Amino acid sequence: MNQNTMASIVIPVFNEQENLSELTRRCIAACDGMHIPYEIILIDDGSRDGSARMISDAAETHGGKVVGVLLNRNYGQHAAVMAGFAHAKGDFIITLDADLQNPPEEIPNVVKKMLEGYDVVGTVRQDRQDSFLRTLPSRMVNKVVRKSTGVHMTDYGCMLRGYTREIVETMCQCRERSTFIPVLANTFAHKVTEIPVGHSERTDGDSKYSFWKLINLQFDLLTSITTFPLRVLSVVGGLVALAGIALGVLIIVLRILWGSAWAMEGVFTLFAILFVFVGAQFVGLGLLGEYIGRIYHDVRDRPRYFVRQLVGRKL
Ligand code: UDP
Ligand code: MG
Repeated sequence: MNQNTMASIVIPVFNEQENLSELTRRCIAACDGMHIPYEIILIDDGSRDGSARMISDAAETHGGKVVGVLLNRNYGQHAAVMAGFAHAKGDFIITLDADLQNPPEEIPNVVKKMLEGYDVVGTVRQDRQDSFLRTLPSRMVNKVVRKSTGVHMTDYGCMLRGYTREIVETMCQCRERSTFIPVLANTFAHKVTEIPVGHSERTDGDSKYSFWKLINLQFDLLTSITTFPLRVLSVVGGLVALAGIALGVLIIVLRILWGSAWAMEGVFTLFAILFVFVGAQFVGLGLLGEYIGRIYHDVRDRPRYFVRQLVGRKL
């Protein structure tokens, strides 16, 4: 490999004290094997356990190899990765989860693929080791994303990915807050590829995504890539309205033909129609709300995060 290319490994950490020491050990071992300069950037996303302390210690013991970016509170995985990007110096930037579900030993494979000249290298988890409830939303989202971005990627949820410096710099210029990094990267990437990687079960600690956080993430993903749901909304609304008019006409006709005794029971039909409308309206309002909420966040243009301390490097 070219001696001048440098790799940055960006890892968001949120309450992962059980995994950190093994993570740093395995990452350093994997990166040392590549024989190129590298840095491992650990971002503490406001952990409430000993993670921040462990990151600082690692940065001090492995001077130059490990950099700690400590955020003052929890901003979410993607904001944490962005904070890592802002401090990355490498020519290639590799992202990775801290929970060891993506084996760090795969880093050299991603780097090798990057060296072939791809802008983005994605990975596909071979026999994914997550529960059904965790994989179902991801599967649905993958499908929607593939349809609406036109960029073909099998597995958007897998965070073991490689990006070129240009792509990362462009992403850092994006000011929107509700980002989903793999999708954002693909909107700028020209040459994209995927490689298969192993996936293991989370051995220590719990998934950091509660049910609500997961829903929020899926909406972030959807609204960050497309306004298509808004269009679907108008189409569905239009169809429902047309069906309503048709039913109304039918009911008037039947009433004239069969008289008002029949119409008494028609009350229930009207209720049914009403519910359809009310339902459609709620769906519509909810979706509108999702977009407006995000617009509101973005127009405020608040900083995405705030770095409390930087260890292993000067600010
Ligand atoms: N994470 C984070 N901030 C959060 C939630 C998660 O930095 O608010 C990190 C977490 O430490 C891990 C990665 O994001 O490195 C993925 O989290 P997790 O493994 O819990 O997600 P899952 O595998 O269930 O998608
Ligand atoms: Mg995980």
